[in-house]
Amino acid sequence: MFVSGNLALDLAGTLKWRRDTPEETLDSPDDLDDWLVRAGVLDTPPGADPADLTSARRLREAAYALVLAHTGGRPLPPDALATVNEYAAVAPVRLALTADGLRRTGPVGAALSDVARSLLTLLSETGTTVKECAKPACTRLYVDRSRGARRTWCGMQECGSQAKMAAYRARRRA
Ligand SMILES: [Zn+2]
Repeated sequence: MFVSGNLALDLAGTLKWRRDTPEETLDSPDDLDDWLVRAGVLDTPPGADPADLTSARRLREAAYALVLAHTGGRPLPPDALATVNEYAAVAPVRLALTADGLRRTGPVGAALSDVARSLLTLLSETGTTVKECAKPACTRLYVDRSRGARRTWCGMQECGSQAKMAAYRARRRA
């Protein structure tokens, strides 16, 4: 699930198979709570409400629009950029080092600010390659940090292994 190497790209991936039959994985405020904790943005579920869910999806779609333009070498859409900047302007997650380690706390808005900030940082970096998974239906985006930027799939588990199996079967048939 967290295969993108960037919080905002992983958030964009919570709407799967965007081109054909989109599958929403952030269906409820609980899903958002769960995602924020599993993504490591917060330590404990923030108790998201329906408005938070709408807000997270709004950030997600703006992020997706920006990254698509970025990977396509097109100018960033001003509306989407204004949206992500707006989220990033909110006070981020509070960090505190305790005897139990680093604690991350805050409301949903703070968590989404962290997500937005990670995207702004990514888009401002030069020499970082963002790609879309080579399986056309997948539509997942990821940062390619491999040597020579030769990574092709979002993650071997979901797309790469399927593609390899298909190639293997095709070879056996031949
Ligand atoms: Zn994929």
